[in-house]
This record gives sequence, structure tokens and C-alpha cells, in this order.
Amino acid sequence: MSLEVMLSFLEQNMVLRVRLKFENLWMPATSITIFWTAKFNTLLIVLCVELFISLSISFLFFLEVIVFMTANHDPCVFCKIVSGEIPSTKVYEDELVFSFLDINPVNPGHLLIIPKVHSRLVREIDPKTVGHIFEVAQKLSIALRNSGLNCEGITFSLADGVAAGQEVQHSHLHLIPRFDGDKFKISFGSSSERPKREDLEKTAQKIKNAI
Ligand code: 5GP
Ligand code: ZN
Repeated sequence: MSLEVMLSFLEQNMVLRVRLKFENLWMPATSITIFWTAKFNTLLIVLCVELFISLSISFLFFLEVIVFMTANHDPCVFCKIVSGEIPSTKVYEDELVFSFLDINPVNPGHLLIIPKVHSRLVREIDPKTVGHIFEVAQKLSIALRNSGLNCEGITFSLADGVAAGQEVQHSHLHLIPRFDGDKFKISFGSSSERPKREDLEKTAQKIKNAI
């Protein structure tokens, strides 16, 4: 049994290939290959039975090219902002996060904080970065309040998933300066009548069971 680990880069995409190869007397070489692409944050698991080494190498190369090509068509606008491929108005950057002004602000100073590594949903972001996003949000909320911009309050907003209204599929936290009389409206309309305490308990139990 042998293990191969290969890390390749193409533009800003990183592809990790882990290949576990088994061989014995009765079977041709069998291998399990796992591809992971940073841009898509996807896993591609390939099981291949290799009759001829040369064939298997070209087969894996072919698969790798497919992964590269798909990844290169990823149109993530926020990854392009992080890499500088498209311009943005940056307000803050460190090793984990990037923050810039929203191109279509609700109010002046409306900014976004994003993880530098492409992550579509909060659950995909490395936990250390998740915590750091909120540390940076605190820092920038203080800056917004001290900036002289009209900022009596701040709405922190994160749409996690298309159903939640996420338009750009790279997780981002909005910080929206708010002031009395601004035009931004957000309301939490309840979906039904006020539930009974036991219904709340049942709902809470479902969540607790999933932690
Ligand atoms: P969502 O609805 O996904 O929570 O919000 C996406 C936000 O990203 C919107 O407020 C939109 O104005 C902003 N946005 C989309 N494309 C760009 C861009 O290319 N540059 C900047 N700075 N903001 C963008
Ligand atoms: Zn991205």
C-alpha cells in the first residue's frame, strides 16, 4: 500500500490530491484518489482500478485538468476582490479577512467583511476565522462610530444561503451604519401565531440534539 500527497496551484486555485494505492497479487493496482479544490471547497473522490500504470497516470492527469478547468470558471467576485483582480475600496485587511465598501451601499460606510479563503456558507469557514470575523467587525464598528459618518447604530447582517437572501456565494458580513430616518427597513415577521412553550421546547430539543 502506498500514499501519495500532491499539492498543485493554478492561478489562485489550490488543488490537493491524496492518493492511496493498494496492490496485491490477485488484483490489478487499485487506488482511491481524493481531490480537494480551495476555490470550490469541494471534494472529488475517485476510485480507480489501474490495469496499466501509464493509463492510470494519464487518467488522473485528465481528471486533474477537469478539476482545474472547472475551478477556473468559478466566477466568485469576492475571491477576485481579495486577489486584486477586480478593484475594491478596501478598509481593512489581515492574514484571515478582507473588508471593503459595498458597491451598492444602503447608507454611506456600508462595508463587508469576508474570509480570504473562499467559503460559501458560515459552516465552511475555519472556526478560527469565524471568530476573527466578529473581532474585526467589533473593531470596524468602533471605527464607523468614530468616523464622522452618520452612524447612530449599526446593523450586522449575514445572509447564509440562497434561501436567506445570499446573492454573492462567498460568505460576507455586512456592517450597515444606521441613523434615525434612514431608508433601510428590516422586519422579522413571525411565520405563525405565537407558539406554546412546549412547542418551543421541542424546537430547542431538535437544535440541541444536532449540536
Ligand atoms: P448579499 O445579498 O449576498 O448579502 O449581499 C451581497 C452584497 O455584495 C450586496 O450588497 C452587493 O452590493 C455587494 N456586491 C456585489 N458585487 C460587488 C462588487 O463587485 N464589489 C463590491 N464592493 N460589492 C459588491
Ligand atoms: Zn470566493
